[in-house]
Amino acid sequence: MAFEGLSDKLSNAFKRLRSKGKLSQSDVKEAMREVRLALLEADVNYKVAKDFVAKVSERAVGAEVMESLTPAQHVIKIVNEELTALMGGENVRIASAPKPPTIVMLCGLQGSGKTTHAAKLAHMFKKQGRRPLLVACDVYRPAAITQLKVMGEKAGVSVFEQGQGNPVKIAKEAVKHAKDYGNDLVLLDTAGRLHIDETLMDELKRIKAEVGPHEILLVVDAMTGQDAVNVAKAFDEALGIDGVVLTKLDGDTRGGAALSVRAVTGKPIKFAGTGEKIEEIEVFHPERMASRILGMGDVLSLIEKAESQLDVKKAEQMARRFSENKMDYNDMLDQFAQVRKLGPIKQILSSLPGMDKHLKEADIDDSQMDKQMDRTVAIILSMTKRERACVDAINPSRKRRIAAGSGTKVEDVNRLIKQLEQMQQMMKQFGGKGKKRRRMMGMP
Ligand code: GDP
Repeated sequence: MAFEGLSDKLSNAFKRLRSKGKLSQSDVKEAMREVRLALLEADVNYKVAKDFVAKVSERAVGAEVMESLTPAQHVIKIVNEELTALMGGENVRIASAPKPPTIVMLCGLQGSGKTTHAAKLAHMFKKQGRRPLLVACDVYRPAAITQLKVMGEKAGVSVFEQGQGNPVKIAKEAVKHAKDYGNDLVLLDTAGRLHIDETLMDELKRIKAEVGPHEILLVVDAMTGQDAVNVAKAFDEALGIDGVVLTKLDGDTRGGAALSVRAVTGKPIKFAGTGEKIEEIEVFHPERMASRILGMGDVLSLIEKAESQLDVKKAEQMARRFSENKMDYNDMLDQFAQVRKLGPIKQILSSLPGMDKHLKEADIDDSQMDKQMDRTVAIILSMTKRERACVDAINPSRKRRIAAGSGTKVEDVNRLIKQLEQMQQMMKQFGGKGKKRRRMMGMP
């Protein structure tokens, strides 16, 4: 998970302050020394870390502490605000063409995640009602074209390709194609190289001159830390970029690139990649990221994810059954399927305030949770149709059969039965019958 080390170290730095009634200059200085070390260990650019600490110290020492906050909370509030500012303040959206199609050019080094993110962006914008067209301009690696076609299919988006032709010409013809076929967004997947070189830049400049993209997004790999920042600086100087797509944030435990890109290049991070799957992309919100770093959770992103990925009709249906206390094992299966859509459970839980720390302390990992869920699903699938719907039907001999069928023990089956009973009990405690209970759940 991103920022793990940094979150821990910052929380240690603040822990010491927590016991203080009033902050002296030396308290702040000591805490800021730790903050600076934490940032450097997170691979944040040296100057960025230095300036950051100077700014926070200046604001913390001698500032009027709000009555509702302890001095320590006051420092955390300042750090939160400055972290947000460091990453650019508000999310910056991509440009929009005055007349469609909007042309977005994706560039970056080989392996940064360019092709994957071209498809992820196409998928995301398609869900928002746009009609994107993916364009294969990476003509040097035949595999890149195939990869884009496969990912385009997953995204449900058309892919424009002309094999290994001239990328400048392909880009130009793709734009014409988009106009002819009513695509309002063109995403150009350009070629990458292992290192920045003149040939690569020349080609990108020619594509830029030919099609005049409204937005040039640079794709960089968060796991490469300061190298990613240097790459961003070099691309910006040579080509001019409008924003950054920071990929592989899921594997970046340090967070140095996320925290330095904006300060070093002046260009905002607009999107973040959080996994290999097509839906694992987020709009980058500096303020939410700062909250996550400080262990304050990111409930807003979780809600947005739920809204975009859950089957609303199904959720309403489920809520209705809950409110009428008609839950059975089929509902449990549905519930699991919905939760799975949101991604790894640990990731979901860590979006809740304070949870990240608990998860770490409990040393729970995704595979454990997934295995537990798999076991429960196997038990339910081993039940007959009647058993799934009629909760009381499961007698001891049936329990033995279900356990054998699902490769579990009778205790596991008992545990599941108990779980459902507890859920039903809980619903009963809401009191009243259908209507009252529904009102309590915010339903009509
Ligand atoms: P390109 O050469 O820049 O087009 O890079 P690709 O799109 O082919 O990605 C390179 C590798 O990184 C592939 O194996 C992707 O599955 C993987 N990848 C891309 N984005 C992410 C991400 O956000 N998280 C993780 N974990 N892997 C990613």
